[in-house]
Amino acid sequence: ALSRQQHRTVLRVDLGALQHNFRVYKARAGLEMIVMVKASAYGGGALPIARALAAAGADYLAVAYVDEGKELRRGGVALPIMVLNPEPKEFTDLAEFNLEPVVGTPAGLRLAHDCGLPVHLELDTGMARLGFAHATVLEGLKKAGPLPRVASVFSHLAASGAPEHDDFTRVQGAHFRRACAEIAGLLGYQPRCHLLNSNGISRWPDLKFDAVRLGIGLYGIGDEALAPELRPVLRLSTYVAQINDLPAGSSVGYDRKGTLTRDSRIATISIGYADGLPRLVGEGRFSVVINGKRAPIIGAVCMDMTMVDVTELPESSVGDEAVIFGPDAPIVRLAEAARTIPYEILTGIGPRVHRIYV
Ligand code: PLP
Repeated sequence: ALSRQQHRTVLRVDLGALQHNFRVYKARAGLEMIVMVKASAYGGGALPIARALAAAGADYLAVAYVDEGKELRRGGVALPIMVLNPEPKEFTDLAEFNLEPVVGTPAGLRLAHDCGLPVHLELDTGMARLGFAHATVLEGLKKAGPLPRVASVFSHLAASGAPEHDDFTRVQGAHFRRACAEIAGLLGYQPRCHLLNSNGISRWPDLKFDAVRLGIGLYGIGDEALAPELRPVLRLSTYVAQINDLPAGSSVGYDRKGTLTRDSRIATISIGYADGLPRLVGEGRFSVVINGKRAPIIGAVCMDMTMVDVTELPESSVGDEAVIFGPDAPIVRLAEAARTIPYEILTGIGPRVHRIYV
């Protein structure tokens, strides 16, 4: 009989593999390492992952929102933390929790100065998202009045992993290089500059500057150049809750979207779209792995459950593990079936899925 724990839907996180991948990127970059632990560390769990990365030698952490930074501080994380998208009314909280805001407006600079906070200046060099336009940042800095300490200057590449946009990336790099020099001239000191994300680290050695911001690569995902050196970190699995033997002609699940053309053995597994299995992958667009064999989804993915066809797996039984992704079932297969990217799959794994750290 399986233990209770094995009967859960579980995201297993291999912290040793995570630390290994961190070291691979650190060796590749040879620079200060800022690690992105926003969105619950891409779904893996912010605190355990931040602690493991601190132990492995991370220099800085980055989160998107102030609450994410507070959670890390409350958990005892002592590394400097940058907050990418703080709200103006939260600047006093930033000071209280020793968090460092990213700013991209003169008003943000003034606020940080008044709160005594060091800032990370964000430049927009082509992402069209947040930050000072690279061409007019000096005017923005002058407009702000007395400036806070600038801990870093950074920009984000829009297409670091897309060779068809390499010319655009080169232009972003040139804009950033020029703006960093101009800003240092105005400030009278040299803040650390950083541009590269995971794909940037492996593909753009010419754009390294002083630090890098590592995210998805920590999980060993999405980097063809470094793939042979990286280890898989995450594994999402659930279990077979019930098996139904159904005659040809039966329908399965909501709106009868699954139709059986033969006598079939159908397993109900304990994972649904509330756990992060996208409804888009229903009706045969994805297979889970049970006892090393593929079992295609039949019918629609439900909120808490999904039905899979195990007719070809006569030995399967209640309690068997069903793997959604993991070392032998690449997450990219699921992402492609769901017409998305691994980032969205990971950050969509529901809060009720148990995270287990090994
Ligand atoms: N830097 C910024 C500003 C980001 O928003 C992100 C992630 O979205 C990253 C770095 C890390 O990117 P990646 O996960 O591709 O390494």
